[in-house]
Amino acid sequence: MKKIVLIFLLIALSLIIYAGEIQNVILFIGDGMGQNHVVATRFIEGKELNMLKTDLFGYVQTFSLNNEVTDSAAAATALATGYKTNNGMIGMLPNCEVIPNLTEILSNNGYKTGIVVTCRVTHATPAGFYGHVESRDEESKLAKQLVDSNLMVVFGGGANYFEELQEDLKFNRFDYLKTKQEMISYVGKKGKKVIGLFSEDHLHPVTQRTSDEPTLPEMTKKAIEILSKDGSPFFLMVEGSQIDMRSHENDLDGLIKEVLEFDEAIGVALEFAEKNPDTLVLVTADHETGGLILNVSGLNLATKKGLSMPIGGSQTVDLETMKNFQKEITQVISHSSNINELKNSIEKCFEITLTPTEINSIEDSQDRHSAIFKVIVGKANCTAKWSTTEHTDALVPIYAYGPGAEHFSEVLDNTDVPKTILQLVEISSTSLIKTP
Ligand SMILES: [Zn+2]
Repeated sequence: MKKIVLIFLLIALSLIIYAGEIQNVILFIGDGMGQNHVVATRFIEGKELNMLKTDLFGYVQTFSLNNEVTDSAAAATALATGYKTNNGMIGMLPNCEVIPNLTEILSNNGYKTGIVVTCRVTHATPAGFYGHVESRDEESKLAKQLVDSNLMVVFGGGANYFEELQEDLKFNRFDYLKTKQEMISYVGKKGKKVIGLFSEDHLHPVTQRTSDEPTLPEMTKKAIEILSKDGSPFFLMVEGSQIDMRSHENDLDGLIKEVLEFDEAIGVALEFAEKNPDTLVLVTADHETGGLILNVSGLNLATKKGLSMPIGGSQTVDLETMKNFQKEITQVISHSSNINELKNSIEKCFEITLTPTEINSIEDSQDRHSAIFKVIVGKANCTAKWSTTEHTDALVPIYAYGPGAEHFSEVLDNTDVPKTILQLVEISSTSLIKTP
């Protein structure tokens, strides 16, 4: 009993220590992004991912109130309000009681708030951060709710739903942007809000984006620029919306492109957070889509950790293995003073033989870590398999950076995410249960 009290005290204390240190919160949601989506992107692209730069990561369970497998509406509601609801519902309990979300609570507490997505801004995930409807299909109603919301910055697609709301937009002090060029040159104005809708429907997939449509990192950069302008605290939700769409299509190549764009947007936020260390950056997903599995054989990824199979075996690459693999590479680099030593260490550690061409590619590279990674992965037999075209109940990762990040490095429920955010910024989570 004493032990439990002590643990509670310690948790309470650690939350108090961080309260006040956090000014801004940027929440990234990769729609449908399971941990294997991240690992596959890292592995197949052989590129350092911004989201993997932290050592503080955990897992989030995603089930909804009426289904082991959630949809994006119930998941967004959980992530935005701290309440589980039935699939299809947004910002409401099953009895249609309206529940306030993070942007409402935070903007009532002096925060500027914004959302940035690559889907229609009336789609389920963004809607969870401003809307309250019984069915996610009520997108016209959601558009009206968005216009009446406290959001300061809204970037994404879905202009069709706002055609008849132009007067309301003006009345509610929104500047309306239609192209990437307008967005890039836009300077935030005092007392003005801004909505940028760069496509009638969802933005095009990364690989087919038109010249008028901005990228997710471009929108993220502009949103942060506007929200951070006068120094008041801000909350921004950024969604990699189409990771889910490519996963429903079981399109691995398309998926990787979407994850890469999402990760680039995370890079923009981390750059801001580095200069503004009172910024908490979280990266998670609403659910996993596709039941993606990555199998690798013929390679020893992390010999010393006892996590991987020996050569010739087959293994599923998980996040721990990936992290250890990256650490092994860092270690062989730091323990080698010349290219010969490096060659020997790599060969010994990963039980491979390097060809002269491979050694040259490592030696000539500006980024040795990535070069070694690519060479090693190139020797592996790597296969990605989808097990469904639907969502799954798999736990999704959460990566955290900045003050309070350690509160997310465990297994959480999706409803814990907004509750912990509010605790960390010292806003009572009891305001979550009051109806607005
Ligand atoms: Zn989906």
